[in-house]
Amino acid sequence: MNNGIITIDGPSGVGKSTVAKSVANILGLMYLDTGAMYRAVALQVKRKPININNENELLSLLKTTNIRILNNKNNVLKIILNDEDITDEIRSPEISRISSDVATKGSVRKKLVELQREIGLNGNIVVEGRDMGTYVFPDADIKFYLEATLEERAIRRKKQLMENNIDRDLENMIKEIELRDKQDKERLESPLHPAPNAVIIDTTNLNTDEVINRIIREVKGE
Ligand code: C5P
Repeated sequence: MNNGIITIDGPSGVGKSTVAKSVANILGLMYLDTGAMYRAVALQVKRKPININNENELLSLLKTTNIRILNNKNNVLKIILNDEDITDEIRSPEISRISSDVATKGSVRKKLVELQREIGLNGNIVVEGRDMGTYVFPDADIKFYLEATLEERAIRRKKQLMENNIDRDLENMIKEIELRDKQDKERLESPLHPAPNAVIIDTTNLNTDEVINRIIREVKGE
C-alpha cells in the first residue's frame, strides 16, 4: 500500500460499518466511521435546538462542538462529544434524519472533513462514509463503493433492529431510506456517488462474509 488508506462509501443501510470494521480488523488497520461525526453534530442540533438554516447559529454551535472517536483494539468505537459518551444515543431514527440534514451544510462538512483528514494523516486506516473516495481522500490506495437495492437495505436494517427487539414497519423504513438516499445524492456539497476509480460491489445477493472476502482479495491484489 502507498498512503495506507482504504475508502468504503455507499448509501444508507448497505452494511458499510460492519464490513469496514471487519476489513480493518483482518488487515490490522484502524477503522473510522465518519457518519458518526455527522450524527454527533445532529445530536448537538437536537439538544440546543438550533435552526440549521441560520448560518450564524450553526457556526456558533460548531465552535462548541468537540468530537473525538476512540478505537479499542477490535475497532469498537466510542463517540465522544464534549467529553460525553454519545455512542448509543446517536443511533436513533430521529438522529439519522437530522444527520442527513446537517450533512447538506458546507460549514459542517468543512469542519468534519478537516478532522477526518487529520485522523487519516498517518494512514493504516479504513475510512467509511459517503465522500471518502470522491472528496476527503481522493488519493486513497484503494476505493470501494457498496450498493444494494433499496428493498434489500430496508430488510437488512429491519433484521438488525429485530435483533434488539425493535419492530419497525418495512414500508416506513423503505420511505426513510429513500429520503436519505435522495438527500445524500442530490446535495450540492460532496453528493454521494462512486469515485471514478472505485471498485463497485453490488451486495444485494451477497452475505457480509462474501463482501468482506471480496474486498480483502482486491486489497491483496488476488
Ligand atoms: O453512515 P450514517 O448513516 O451513520 O451517516 C449519517 C448521515 O451522515 C448520512 O445520512 C449522510 O447524510 C451523512 N454522511 C455524509 N458524509 C459522510 C458520512 C455520513 O454526508 N462521509
